[in-house]
Amino acid sequence: MIRYECDRCGHPLGANDTGRFIVKMEVYAAAGPVDITPADSQRDHTDEIEALVRQLERANPDEIEDQVYRCLRFDLCADCHRDLLRNPLGRKE
Ligand SMILES: [Zn+2]
Repeated sequence: MIRYECDRCGHPLGANDTGRFIVKMEVYAAAGPVDITPADSQRDHTDEIEALVRQLERANPDEIEDQVYRCLRFDLCADCHRDLLRNPLGRKE
């Protein structure tokens, strides 16, 4: 039997426990539209691309992913579920 526990408080939860809630979160960069002009398509971007590749080779992959997209999943007990819905962003009350 698969056992779960609340990812917030550690309370034990069963796989079919009616007091078990699943939270999925997607966090991603809110990038605006890309404005490409005809002059941009004519210009040589080789140096910029090579500089970007060098920068990425030195970067931490987790930090790069954090800046672009993260998908998170948590199991919560009923109490933590109620707290989450009451204050989803953890604002100071
Ligand atoms: Zn909990």
